[in-house]
Amino acid sequence: KKMEEELTFLSFHDPLTGLYNRRFFEEQMTLLDGGRSNPVSVISCDIDGLKIINDHFGHDQGDAMIVKVSRILQEAVRSDDILARIGGDEFAIIMPRCPADGVDRIYLRIKEALGRVHMKINEMEVPIMVSMGRAVRTGREVSIRVLFKTADDEMYIEKKSNSGRKQSLYSRIFDRMETRI
Ligand code: GH3
Ligand code: MG
Repeated sequence: KKMEEELTFLSFHDPLTGLYNRRFFEEQMTLLDGGRSNPVSVISCDIDGLKIINDHFGHDQGDAMIVKVSRILQEAVRSDDILARIGGDEFAIIMPRCPADGVDRIYLRIKEALGRVHMKINEMEVPIMVSMGRAVRTGREVSIRVLFKTADDEMYIEKKSNSGRKQSLYSRIFDRMETRI
């Protein structure tokens, strides 16, 4: 019985973070497609420069960054929200009955929390950068999938505008690393 429960848990959750997995997220997008949960909001997030963290500090530090981001997202969402890790460093949130001002509030709450935390790696305080996008639907004009695509597009626009900041941050970190060798 216990093993059965564990298997059920694992089929809908991501083992690293304990969040829902992509499969569960996809199912929920279909289930919430009817208008009953309107307004529905979604948020898309992707960590900036995780490959750099992996390459320079090791995969375990990359994992730790993914877990840290997942905890911040968990603290920011409401109990009805569906928060999932849908890719390596990608997270998504579906928020049933959440209007535009609600999603803006949660979006800012996440941004502020991310701005406050650092990862301590090799005695250095490394900030966590995440690009985010959001979208709201009030009627049934689009499917949740299309809504999610809108949020994802906004996330990519933010990622492009963050890229200069990312470059300068990492070059500062690597300069510091070199001076210490
Ligand atoms: P960008 O700023 O454009 O988002 O680039 P990025 O370096 O974050 O890379 P991207 O989002 O394109 O791809 C995610 C990378 O995260 C790919 C892979 O190297 C790494 N990754 C994926 N899954 C895991 C994981 O479970 N653990 C760790 N440590 N790294 C992962
Ligand atoms: Mg990324």
